[in-house]
Amino acid sequence: MPFTIAIDGPAASGKGTIARALARRYGFHHLDTGLLYRAVGAKGGDAVAVARSLVPADLERPDLRSNEAGQAASRVAAIPEVRQALVEFQRRFAVQEPGAVLDGRDIGTVICPDARLKLYVIASDAVRARRRAAEIGADPAETLAALRERDARDSSRQTAPLLAAEDAITLDTTDMTIDEAVAIAVAEVEARRG
Ligand code: C5P
Repeated sequence: MPFTIAIDGPAASGKGTIARALARRYGFHHLDTGLLYRAVGAKGGDAVAVARSLVPADLERPDLRSNEAGQAASRVAAIPEVRQALVEFQRRFAVQEPGAVLDGRDIGTVICPDARLKLYVIASDAVRARRRAAEIGADPAETLAALRERDARDSSRQTAPLLAAEDAITLDTTDMTIDEAVAIAVAEVEARRG
């Protein structure tokens, strides 16, 4: 049985960093599922048709990390048919041997409800905005406003809203270094690997 790790949380909470570190440590596959929605939003046109015909090269576009791409992603992510079109790909990805780490908003609740470990990663708004602004070279105030707008949309949508799974472990990274957060995540994996 492959070991699947689901990591959810709001934008720039640290989930991607933790996901990459776990994947590297255990030799697991990693999927940043936000990229799927960013790629759909960035292509424009009929979002449902774009989601149904997405190819790996679409995830390589250099402009997918910007605040604008994030906003476009969160708009198309609220369309149920777009989400539906991306479910199968994510579920197939999740069951690869020896394991897989997926990060996003609905991994523990919808995509991989049977994941062996579910983490829900959070951090204060100010810290998230500072991290993201530094990462993409954007204005912190503008980034804070963009993150809040996105979180509000992601939390209030009807289909697969941003929500901690009941059996998820919440990890607040506000006052943690990357190493501290990763160490906690590793301890949770170890506890389940037997
Ligand atoms: O994680 P990232 O910030 O790249 O995600 C961009 C947007 O994609 C999110 O704001 C959210 O609307 C959407 N998303 C989603 N479900 C996921 C991953 C991302 O709805 N599993």
